[in-house]
Formats: sequence, structure tokens, C-alpha cells
Amino acid sequence: MKSVAENFGSLVFDDRVMKATLSSSVYQSLKKTIEENEKLETEVANAVAEAMKDWAIENGATHFTHWFQPLTGITAEKHDSFITPSPDGRVLMEFSGKELIKGEPDASSFPSGGLRATFEARGYTAWDPTSYAFIKGKTLCIPTAFCSYGGEALDKKTPLLRSMEALNKQALRVLKLFGNDSVKCVKTSVGPEQEYFLIDKDLYDKRKDLIFTGRTLFGAKAPKGQEMNDHYFGVIKPRVAAYMADLNEELWKLGILAKTQHNEVAPAQHEMAPIYTTTNIATDHNQLTMEIMQKVASKHNLVCLLHEKPFAGVNGSGKHNNWSISTDQGENLLNPGKTPFENAQFLLFLCSVIQAVDDYQDLLRLSVATAGNDHRLGANEAPPAVISIFLGDELTSILESIENDTPYEDAEKQVMKLGVHVLPKFRKDTTDRNRTSPFAFTGNKFEFRMLGSSNSIACANIMLNSSVAESLKQYADILEKADNFQEALHDLIKKTIKEHKRIIFNGNGYDDAWIEEATKQRGLLNLKTTPDAMPELLNKKNVDMLTSHKVFTVPELNSRCEIMLDNYNKTVNIEALTMVDMARKEILPAMEKYSYYLAKSIKNKKEISVSASKYETSTLDKLTKLIDSVDEETDKLDKKIVELGNISDVVEFSKAVKDELLPQMAKLRLSADEAETLTAEEYWPFPTYGKLLFGVR
Ligand code: ADP
Ligand code: MG
Repeated sequence: MKSVAENFGSLVFDDRVMKATLSSSVYQSLKKTIEENEKLETEVANAVAEAMKDWAIENGATHFTHWFQPLTGITAEKHDSFITPSPDGRVLMEFSGKELIKGEPDASSFPSGGLRATFEARGYTAWDPTSYAFIKGKTLCIPTAFCSYGGEALDKKTPLLRSMEALNKQALRVLKLFGNDSVKCVKTSVGPEQEYFLIDKDLYDKRKDLIFTGRTLFGAKAPKGQEMNDHYFGVIKPRVAAYMADLNEELWKLGILAKTQHNEVAPAQHEMAPIYTTTNIATDHNQLTMEIMQKVASKHNLVCLLHEKPFAGVNGSGKHNNWSISTDQGENLLNPGKTPFENAQFLLFLCSVIQAVDDYQDLLRLSVATAGNDHRLGANEAPPAVISIFLGDELTSILESIENDTPYEDAEKQVMKLGVHVLPKFRKDTTDRNRTSPFAFTGNKFEFRMLGSSNSIACANIMLNSSVAESLKQYADILEKADNFQEALHDLIKKTIKEHKRIIFNGNGYDDAWIEEATKQRGLLNLKTTPDAMPELLNKKNVDMLTSHKVFTVPELNSRCEIMLDNYNKTVNIEALTMVDMARKEILPAMEKYSYYLAKSIKNKKEISVSASKYETSTLDKLTKLIDSVDEETDKLDKKIVELGNISDVVEFSKAVKDELLPQMAKLRLSADEAETLTAEEYWPFPTYGKLLFGVR
């Protein structure tokens, strides 16, 4: 068996393979493209394509695909084989630079939100050389961006790359002001922690709700949930351990740095965290990770649920987006550093994030808004829908002393003067204690905790990068003009803290009193649901910022808003239809069957002059009433679905989904779940919560 080190990246056309297979001049040019965004020459592309193809064939590939991330939220691929007919009737295996760089999938069925009429069906894919190609099955996958012929982005990668470029540009301006001339490039990095559930496949197959929607739409609580806290970090069960071992191996082959794994709070819930890497690569890797988690699960007769709220009553799943900014020289700009001058630079970058999160709370909130995540945000276990930043007491008091020109406690009662004082070293445990904050500073990075487990991390990082780029742009504009840099810097930091400190909150984010304070006194936004949040994308303030940094065009924003809302509407509509189907075809017949059994038993006993038990008569009575209630609520839900089908405007539709459809679904569920608690288990038509949550050993 191969060792982990030998296996790692064995299916990736990475730097090691490039060095080994490309001529030194081709390698140098490609490196320049990857690291400094330099244009790729045709000859270089041809040479890279040739080497890539030979390497892929050697590793068992027969096909190649441009791998991209359309707005469906998952990845797409269309396989082409390498074969080309040769004059002698045989085939050659060919792959040109042109095929590497550009593809033209017939992609008319991907959502474009009106950006691309169907008669211009073909979009094109363009190679992203900064993310390594890899082999999946028998296919060489080339990470690409996906655009329309007009050049509009139809995917998540294009705006992500643009947002990274925007931040790079503004960060370089700021770094120059601090005398950092040698830095060539600034990139953001992300380490996404991924939560998921594992359940038995045989049980999954018996539930239409899981099959069609990824979550349970019915289900009474099991006698045991997560109240004992005995699952969190608990001993990993053998079947799960075998899954995790297999998963790691598959991820490592693809060069994905899967690092930690543990049981999460809810029964059957687990987490995997990779070592962080450049944001666009981390995004590609997270998409692949989600795909492979599901694939490996089926090998173990398990199903990996990535839905944000598969089960009511226990925790849902999220994704923590650990985010930092670093230079090509390896300096983390969010690291407090050791010398006063670096501290001032750190404080300015810190301020840029504080300001960005305050100014663009709405963009961050909507970047994680989906029908699934709406069940989590604001619920018990997840951060609230209100965005605030946790900085920790030490850093907060440093900012306070700068803001007020008052002495800083720990620095021997001296007034903090930028560029003179060294910040005290933060202890990690004091900065990492608060798990309730949606956006927490954790020593040398920020952890954005609102992402849903099935979200592409691209959206959140596009908004994060862009809004920080905007803060930095404003700073650079001011500081470049300043006569006295030190003084201007001090004033700028002071002003920023004063204006944006309302977003800083170190207390318990799950507390109702906080939501009250946040919204009433601090004026922070509380965009509770997707229909509340998504339309904010088209706010003038947001459109101006995103277009000025060339992250999105106006038509792209319009189309995205429409697609996201449409996705929300369709998701809930499918859930509602599934509920009607399950109620009519499974739940009601099961209730009838058990009632019939009880009635027959009562009748039989009567015939031999035995009185029926109280259990029989009262259960029959309760079930009969519940049958009427389930039937009635099902009819109402069915009518609602039809009614909503007449609304053509997506925004209006989404509001009706939130205000009318979801509440009616909840009513139906209430009656059906009560019926479940009264019906003998052998009569209930699908596996219970108890079996689903505790069935994997
Ligand atoms: P925990 O959150 O469980 O305490 P860590 O904070 O050490 O664990 O790491 C969680 C995630 O944060 C990991 O995916 C890790 O790679 C990532 N991470 C650590 N440092 C950085 C950084 N500078 N930039 C981005 N992500 C980081
Ligand atoms: Mg963490």
C-alpha cells in the first residue's frame, strides 16, 4: 500500500508534476501566469496541454472536461474524450492548448436569470490556471470559469476571481504606503470547516422527503436527541471511522488537505476541516469535498446529508469560513505582529474588515441566504441573522484606547500611539472563546460562521473580498494624499473605530436581549429570511460598490438576485409538493390502516362480550380526529401551491412562500407528527427520527 505522503496529490497536476513534465521555460511562464496573473502565450498553453494529457493518460484518464460552477450551486462537467481519428483508421490521443484554455459547452439549461437568451445557448468556459487540474474517475478535470458570449459571468468562480483581484489591487496600494514595495501580490486564504450528517442508506431510501429535498419534512422527536452532549467529540463509531478514513484518502489524492475530523453536537453529525489555502482553490476544493463526501458514503451504504437542517429539534449543519489576507511573501496581514510599525499596518487592515462588515452587513447576510440556511440562522444552535464582529476583550480595549486617546491598561498606563507601541500578544484562548458570534476574530484570521453546510463558499468570499477592497480603497485614497502619513493614519483609524464600533459585540449572540439591542439601539440589520435579504443585493449602495470594483456588472447582479430567489421558491415548492405526496399516499393511508385495526379489534371484542380497552377507544378517537386534520391541512397546502403558481414576480412569490407556504407546511407537519406518536411503529410508513439518528453504528 502507498503511504499517505505518496498518495497525497497523486491525482493532481500540481507544481511537482509541472516541474517534472514541462521544459524549464514553459514552467517559468506558467508560474508567472499562476502567481502574477500574467497572460499565457499560445505556445506555452500547447506545451502545458500536451504534458497534462500525457500525465492524465498515464494515470488512467481517457476523457477531459472543463469543470465549472454554474449558479445551480453545484459543479458541472461535460466529458470529451482525447481521441482524434487518424488517417490510418486508428485513433490518436490529442489535446491542444486551445482545448485547455477555452471550451464551449452547450449550456442553455443552466440558470442565467435572463442574461443569455436560449438562442445564444452557448456560453464558454475559460481555464483558471491558478487552480490545479485533477483526475476524477477516468476524466481529467480542468477548473474553469463560465461566461456568456457577452462576457457576463454565469458562474461563481468568475466574480470570486474578480473580487480577489479587487482586493489585491487595493491592498497593494495600502502596503506601498507602509513602505512595502516588494510585495507583488496579495491573496485571501480560506479554511472551510464542513459539517455533515451520515445516515444509513436503506433507511434513507424509504423517505421521499430525504430523497427529494435532502431534509425530513415530517418526523416526531426521538426520545433522545442531543441533550446529553455525548456525541460532540465522542468516540467515532467503527462504521463512521471507516468512512472517514476512506474520505481522507480520496481527498488527499486530490490534493485536498483534509486535516481534522470529529463528531459534532447532534447525533449522526460530523465535521471535517482542511488546512487553509488560497480562496479560489479552497472554493474548488470545498465543492469537490462535498461531492466526494457523498460518493464515498454510498460505498459504505451510507448517505451524507449536506442540508442545513435535515432534522428538526437537533442542530443543523454549517460551514465556518476561516478567512485571512496574506502577501506573496507569506506575511499574514491579519497577524498582530511583533513591531509597532507592523501593528499600525495590522490595525488598519483590522479596521478595513470592521468597516466592511458594518457597511456591507446586508451583502454578507445575503451571501449565505438559501431556503435551507433559513432554518438555521437565528435558531438556537446557529449564529443569529444579525451580523456582528467578535474581537475579544483585549483587542476591543486597545481599539477603545485609540478611539478615546485614553491609556491602555496593559501597556503601563500609556496612551496608545500608533507606530510607537507594540500590541500585547493575544492569547488564542481569549480570542476564540465565543462560539456564538457570526463573525469572530480568532487570533490571525476571521471566522465567518453563517455559511450553510451546502453553500458554495464562493458567494460569502466574493462579498467579503469586495467589501474589504472598498474599505482599503477609501483608506488608500485618503492616505496617498496625506502630508503627514503617521498623523493621517492615526486619525483614520480613530475615525473608523468611532464610526463602525457598533458592529463589535463580544457578548452572547444567541441572547434575545442582544437582538433587541442590535436592532433598536445600534441600528444593525436583522434580515431574517432569504426573501428579506436577497433583494438588498440591488440596493444602490451595494450595486455601486460591486460594480466600481468590477466584481459584477449591473445585469449580472440583476440576474443573480433573480436566480437566488427563484431557487428559494423552487426549493420550498418541491418541499410542499413532497409533503402533499407523503401525506396522501403514505401518512393518511397508514393512519387509516391503524385506525381500522383498532376499530376491528374493538368490534371483535364486542362480539365476544369483552369490553374494548381505553387505549383502543381513545386512540381510535384521537386518530380519527387527526386524520381529518391531516387531510384538511394537506388540502389547504395543495391549494396554496396552486395559488402561488399564479404569481409571476419572483420577489412577490418568495414573500408568499415565506408568509403563506412555509406556515401551512408547519401546520400539516404538526398534525402528522402528532399522529406518528399515536400510531404503532410497524404501521408508520417510513423510518422514525430515532432510527435515522441512531442507526449508524
Ligand atoms: P478551530 O476553529 O477548531 O479552533 P483552527 O482555528 O485552528 O481550529 O482552524 C480552523 C480552520 O481555520 C482550519 O481549516 C484552518 O486551516 C483554518 N485556518 C487557520 N489559519 C488560517 C488562516 N491564517 N487563514 C485562513 N484559514 C485559517
Ligand atoms: Mg473554527
